[in-house]
Amino acid sequence: MRKARVMKLISNQYSVLIDGKIVLAKPMGKLRLRHSPIVGDWVSVEQLEEHWVIQRVLDRDNELTRPTIANVDQALVVTSLFRPDFSATLLDRLLFLIMVEHIKPVICITKCDLVSEDDPVFEIIDEYVKAGYQVVKTGLNYDMSEIKEIFRDKITVLTGQSGAGKSALLNRLDASFQIRTQETSKALNRGKHTTRHVELHPVANGWVADTPGFSSLDFSTLDKRMLSEVILDFKDYVFKCKFRNCIHINEPGCAVKEAVENKEISKIRYNNYIDVCELIDKGDQVWL
Ligand code: ZN
Repeated sequence: MRKARVMKLISNQYSVLIDGKIVLAKPMGKLRLRHSPIVGDWVSVEQLEEHWVIQRVLDRDNELTRPTIANVDQALVVTSLFRPDFSATLLDRLLFLIMVEHIKPVICITKCDLVSEDDPVFEIIDEYVKAGYQVVKTGLNYDMSEIKEIFRDKITVLTGQSGAGKSALLNRLDASFQIRTQETSKALNRGKHTTRHVELHPVANGWVADTPGFSSLDFSTLDKRMLSEVILDFKDYVFKCKFRNCIHINEPGCAVKEAVENKEISKIRYNNYIDVCELIDKGDQVWL
C-alpha cells in the first residue's frame, strides 16, 4: 500500500501522484459508491498487476464544493488596486467565506504600480497586515520571489473579481501555464466528458486548481457566531464579551464593539461583518 495524491479527475478516471510520477488509478468498487475520491485527496493505492487501485481515502482537512477539491492549503484572494478599483467590501466577503471553510487566505494585491505610493488605499491594506492577514503586493517590476515562495508545495485556489489579474499572475509565475490549460480545455471540448473535470496544475513548485474558486458568494448557510470567531481582527476580543453567544451587534458588554470604538479593530472590517450578517438574515447570494 502506498500513499498518493489525486491530481486530476475526468469522468471517472483518476490521475494520482506517487513519488513525483503521475499514474492512472481506479477506485475500488465500494469507494465509488460511498466515498469517492476527489481532487486533492490523499489516498492509499495498490498496484494490482498492471493497474493502480485506490483502496482508501484518507481523512480530509477541508473540502470545497465549487470546485470540488479537498485539502486546500490556502486561497489566494487576488485583489486589484486599479480597474477594477480596490474594494474592501468584496475582499472581506471573500475572506469571511474562505475562513469559515477553515482555509487560510492570502491576500494578493495586484497592479500596485498603477497607484502612487502615498495613496490612502495602502493605509486600508495595512490594517489587514496589522490584524494578522498575510498580504503580498505585486505589480510591474515587483519582485516575484515572495509570491513564488507562497505557492511552493501547496495546493492553492485562486479567487477574486474578474480583471484583478489572476491569469496574468499565473502566467508570470509560469510561462507555460496558459498553454497547458488551453490544451486541456481544447482536448475536453473535443471529447464527450465535459461534465466532471477538476485538475491541479503545477505552478512555481506548487499546485493550483484551474477553476476560479468561487463564482458566487453564498452567505445563506453561515452561522454569525462562527463567522465572528474566524475573523482575524476579532480573535483577541470575541471570547471577552459578557455573553457567550454574543454576535457583537446589539449586546451590552460586547468586547468587539468596545475594540471598534477604541480603534483596535478596523471599523471597515466591523461594518463589513454587520453587512454580511444582514445577508445571512436575508439568505442572500451575491454574484462575483
Ligand atoms: Zn460581542
